[in-house]
Parts: sequence; structure tokens; C-alpha cells
Amino acid sequence: MESNIKIKLWGVRGSTPCANPENMRYGGNTSCIQISVPGMDEFLIADCGTGFRNLGNELDSNGKSLMGKIFITHPHWDHLQGFPFFKPFYDSKNCFEVYMPPQDGVGCKEILQGHLSNTFFPVSIDMLESELDCITFEKAKLDFAEYSVEFMWANHTVPTAIYKFTINGIVIIFAPDNELPINIDSDNKAFVDEFRAFVKGANVLIHDAQFTKEQHEQRLGWGHSNWETVIDLTKDLGIRRLCLTHHDPDHSDDTLDRINSKIASIKSSFYEEATVIQEGQELYLPN
Ligand SMILES: [Zn+2]
Ligand SMILES: [Zn+2]
Repeated sequence: MESNIKIKLWGVRGSTPCANPENMRYGGNTSCIQISVPGMDEFLIADCGTGFRNLGNELDSNGKSLMGKIFITHPHWDHLQGFPFFKPFYDSKNCFEVYMPPQDGVGCKEILQGHLSNTFFPVSIDMLESELDCITFEKAKLDFAEYSVEFMWANHTVPTAIYKFTINGIVIIFAPDNELPINIDSDNKAFVDEFRAFVKGANVLIHDAQFTKEQHEQRLGWGHSNWETVIDLTKDLGIRRLCLTHHDPDHSDDTLDRINSKIASIKSSFYEEATVIQEGQELYLPN
């Protein structure tokens, strides 16, 4: 397994954490994934929902100096709430870079300062002890030694990134908050075309599937997709693995099991793998 890229899913819930017995199998923590690249010491993380706290606790245990890059899709609470609970931020040996797209002209550091202002939380960003470089990620491709990152704008209620990580030719797309139009033939065609071109041929697409189609019809414009439309719009694009995420907090394990079994009956013709993902799961690439 050491030669494989690993994606660990630390939080797959959307909107708000839910620590209820009926949510435990799929998990109650919000958006956070970690991508481990063979031979790379630095950590690669996307989103800082409440799952980010558990990730930090694990990283903290080895006592070494840590370095990492963190890509936040957008600053909604469910993607940022774990941020100040990440223990490695409280150790001066550690060094992190945080990337986020601008919010109507406001940059990454200012947004984080706002979230960690005294009205909302007792710890301000200046009280974090690790080195923390906040970088506003304008629309462009960033090339690092082991991987590149680019993004397209999601269809969401605030400026939100759909991230594409390319690592040794392996493409991982992370789109936890993105509303694909329910009427795929006539709504927002330019966006749909851009989205389909962006995700085409990906090894893994981790995509928002907060609703069923029936629920989505009642929640148009809320910024989230239904799982049926995600499949309709991606099934002919040569995507190897489809991972549905950002589960609605009111979707119990039983509800998500039912969706998973519906997907199981159609996936084999379109994807090598298609699942409703669970917190704690690890994906290995290429498999
Ligand atoms: Zn969200
Ligand atoms: Zn959001």
C-alpha cells in the first residue's frame, strides 16, 4: 500500500455536525479530507470542518515538527469549524500554509481573523503558535514539487472552489459544496459544460450529494446537489471512482444505506466504484 496515494475521509457530513446514534456509521463530523502522497513528508489537507480536529489529534501524536498545506473550499461553518481545534497549530515547531479563494475581495487571512474574532471564539488567529501563512487562492494553477492544484468556481451561495489535485498523473477532484442544476438540459448550460470538462476522466470525484432529487426540488438555490443528478451528469465522463459526500445531517445511516444500494445497482456500467462515503474510510489510488 505504501506506493499508493491515500485519501482519508475525516469528515463527510454537510451543514452541521451531528453526533446522533443514527448517524454514527457514516459519521457526524463535517468536511475534511487528507491526501497522503508516497515520499512526501508534508501534509495535504482539504477543508477544516470538525473532522479536522480528529486529524490534528492523530498528527499531534508523533512529536515531530509538522509541515502542511491546507486548501479550504469556502468559509462556511461546516468547512471551518474544526480550524481552531487543530492541535498542531499550538506548537511553534510546526508550519502550515492555508489557501482559500477570496470572498468578494476579502482575502484568506481576513476571513480567518473574522471567524476567530473575540465575539465568536476565545482564541484569535494571532494566538496560534505554529507558523501560519494565509494565502488567498485566486483562480490559477499552483504547481508544487509533488502535485499541482487548480480550481473552478462551484455553483454555491458564496465563492467556493472545486479543487483538482493532480499527483503523478492521478486526478482527485474535491467538490463538497456544488449545486448541479436539477434540469440538466436547460439550466445553467455554460456552468454544466465547464464542470463536465473539469471533472472528465478523474480518478476520483468526491462530490456533494446532500439531497435526493425530491428534496432538491424543495431546496433549489441552497447550493447543494442531489445524488441522481450527480450521476446523470458524470456517468459518461470516464470517472473511475465516484464518492458522494456532504451528507444531510437529517439523513440517517439507514437513509444513506438505501441511497448506497440504489447506486450499487447502476454503478457498474459507468464507474469502477461509486459509493456514499463514510467518515474514517481510506481510499487508495490507483487501486
Ligand atoms: Zn458545506
Ligand atoms: Zn457551503
